[in-house]
Amino acid sequence: MSAIEVIDLSRHYRLGSVDVPALRGVSLSIAANAFTVLSGPSGSGKSTLLNLLGGLDRPDSGHVVVAGQRLDTLDDNRLSDFRARHIGFVFQHFNLLPVLTARENVEYPLLLAGVAASERRRRAAELLDAVGLADRAANLPGQLSGGQRQRVAIARALALRPALVLADEPTANLDSHTGAAIIALMRDMQRQYQTCFVFSSHDAQLLAAADHAVLLRDGQLQAPAAVKEAA
Ligand code: ADP
Ligand code: ADP
Repeated sequence: MSAIEVIDLSRHYRLGSVDVPALRGVSLSIAANAFTVLSGPSGSGKSTLLNLLGGLDRPDSGHVVVAGQRLDTLDDNRLSDFRARHIGFVFQHFNLLPVLTARENVEYPLLLAGVAASERRRRAAELLDAVGLADRAANLPGQLSGGQRQRVAIARALALRPALVLADEPTANLDSHTGAAIIALMRDMQRQYQTCFVFSSHDAQLLAAADHAVLLRDGQLQAPAAVKEAA
C-alpha cells in the first residue's frame, strides 16, 4: 500500500496582485515504509508540498491521500485529529516547547491524545533511549545541542506511532556532520518503527542517504532520469 498518493496537486500564493505558482500539477506516490528525500533548490516548492502532505495547508486543486485517507474530504477539526494521530512532524527550528524537559516534550502528544501517565512515561523513555538521549530526559531544550534537540523532536514525532513522519529541512540549522547523523538516525527510526519518512533538503549530498528521491524544480517534478543524475 502507498503511504502517500498525490494527485495533480497545485498551490498558488497570492502576493497582492501577483500570483506565485508554488506547485504546478504534481502527482506522485510514496510507498509505505519508504525513506524518501524531497529535494530541489530553495523556492522550488518543497515546504509547500510537505505542508500539503501533512494537511497543514490545503491545495487549490488536486488532492492528497495519506494512509488511505483523502485529506480534502476532512473538515478542519477532523483534519487536525487525523494529523495528530497519523502524521509526525520534524521542523528546521526543532520547535520544542522550551519550558518542558526532553521527556515532557516527547510525552506531550501522548498527553494530548489522552494516553495514561504510566504509558506516557514508558513510551517516552523507550523513544529517548532509541534516539540515544536516555541520559538527557530531564534536560530542557536550552540545555541541549542542536543535534540533541532534533533527536528529541524525532522521538516526539514518533510518539503516537504515526504512519508518516514529515521533516522539513531537518538539517538546515545543523553543521554537516551533525546533519548527516540526524539523517542516519531518521533512517534507523524508519526501519525500527516501520514508518514512512519524507524529509526535504536542498543539500544534494543528502540525496544518496534516501531510498527514493523526489526532485522539484519551479513547482514541478523533475523526470526520474534527472533525479538519478542529481543523485
Ligand atoms: P522551498 O521549500 O523549496 O524553498 P517553498 O514551498 O517555500 O519552496 O516556496 C515555493 C514558492 O512559493 C517560492 O516562490 C516562494 O517564494 C513562494 N511562497 C512560499 N510561501 C509563500 C507565501 N506564504 N506567500 C507567498 N509566496 C510564498
Ligand atoms: P550533537 O552531535 O548531539 O549535536 P554536539 O557534539 O554538538 O552534540 O555537542 C556535544 C555536547 O555539548 C552536548 O552533549 C551538549 O550537552 C553540549 N552542547 C553543544 N551545543 C550546545 C548548546 N548550544 N547549548 C548547550 N549545550 C550544548
